Formats: sequence, structure tokens, C-alpha cells
Amino acid sequence: MSIATNLQNTLNSIPDHVQLVVVSKTRTHEEIMEAYRAGQRHFGESKAQELTPKAEDLPEDIQWHMVGHLQSNKVKYIVPFVSLIHSVDKLKLLKVINKEGKKNNRVVPVLLQLHIAEESTKFGMDYEEACSLLESEEYRDMKFVDVRGLMGMATFTDDKEQVRREFKELKHSFDSIREKYFPASPSFKILSMGMSDDYQEGIREGSNMVRIGTAIFGPRQNMTTPK
Ligand SMILES: *Cc1c(COP(=O)(O)O)cnc(C)c1O
Repeated sequence: MSIATNLQNTLNSIPDHVQLVVVSKTRTHEEIMEAYRAGQRHFGESKAQELTPKAEDLPEDIQWHMVGHLQSNKVKYIVPFVSLIHSVDKLKLLKVINKEGKKNNRVVPVLLQLHIAEESTKFGMDYEEACSLLESEEYRDMKFVDVRGLMGMATFTDDKEQVRREFKELKHSFDSIREKYFPASPSFKILSMGMSDDYQEGIREGSNMVRIGTAIFGPRQNMTTPK
């Protein structure tokens, strides 16, 4: 099936209040343009060194999401244009984003990534770490980052019950953090959870942003783990 058809089928399978981010890592410009011509504008990449040249070459009205692990030394390349960074997993990284935001005179929208999976290989903070970040004086002084919500990845497993449990936990953390730290801030509202294999579970548990690659473009050729 064509990319445009897969995109349409995916859009038909998610409710209107859920934002689809098409994850285009390892895909060619031509593949991305096929989704673009079918109307898609939000795309996600997992490596700064792949995201930056794509953003330069592809249409300017694409909203680029950084969904993968981000190293501090790569922040400066994406801050001038990135639409949302999903993967803030340390205060130190947020400090660098704030510093680069200041240089660019741009408030950078970000999500905090929480670790909900069983695997130790997935990045992210636990709930307490996220709270201490948000309570820190350093965070409160940051003028060039805007924390818009949370992101998390469930365990890679066929056990849908486990996936749902993990997403439930993330939704719970999202609700508590919003209540505790963002009671008067309507911009804290994004819960990014769900990928090709588990987005239906994500949506059922309260996700309003899903990150989907394989279901639209087909299997990725090179199976090195996403960074
Ligand atoms: C690759 C990736 C996705 C998309 O995964 P698919 O299984 O291809 O849908 C989503 N989120 C992150 C963080 C990724 O690295």
C-alpha cells in the first residue's frame, strides 16, 4: 500500500483530538514528500544530525519534532527551528536548551520524557526526578523553555496488558504534574505516548499525541536501535 493510503488509514484510526507525528527517521526526502503532499505537516526524527539537513531541504511549513535521545552538544543545531523536543530527560539538557533558546531569542517547546518501560535501555526520568527538576531554582529561572507535557515509551512486548499498565502510569504522572506545577498554565497539555504497535493502547489511556513511523512507511531497513 502507498504511503498516502497508510497515512489516511492511520488518520482514520485516531480521534480528532490526537495529533499525529509521522516519524520519518531513515526515510528519504521522497518518502517524506509523499506524506507531505497528502497533507501531513508534523514529522518526527530521532537524531539531530538527520533532522537538521532534512529541515533545510524540505518545505518550510513542516513542523519538526525531535523524538529521540538528544545529546547536549547537538542542541544548538535544532533549537532555531524545532517545533517540539519530546525527549528532555535531564535538568542539564534542559539548561542547554534554555541557553540556546536565549541565543536565538526563542522559547523552545519541550516535553519531559518519563521512563515507564521495563527495559533499562529506554531513556527518561522517573516521576520523582521530574518533580525535583520542576521544583529546582534553576528551572524556575529558565525563560526560554516551555514545558508543554510528557512523553514516554512502553516496553516492547506483545503483552498489551503490560503496555496499558505502563501508559496508565504515565497518564497518572501527567495528571499529578499538571495539578502540582501547572495549575494555571493551559499550555501544559501534551501527552505523547504511542507508536505503531501500541498507539491504540496509548489513546485509550489518554494520549493526545502519537508518534508513528512503521505503520505509515513500512519496516525500517536498517535495524540499529533508534538513538
Ligand atoms: C522510531 C520512534 C518512533 C516510531 O516508531 P514506529 O514503531 O516506527 O512507529 C516513535 N517514537 C520514538 C521515540 C522513536 O524513536
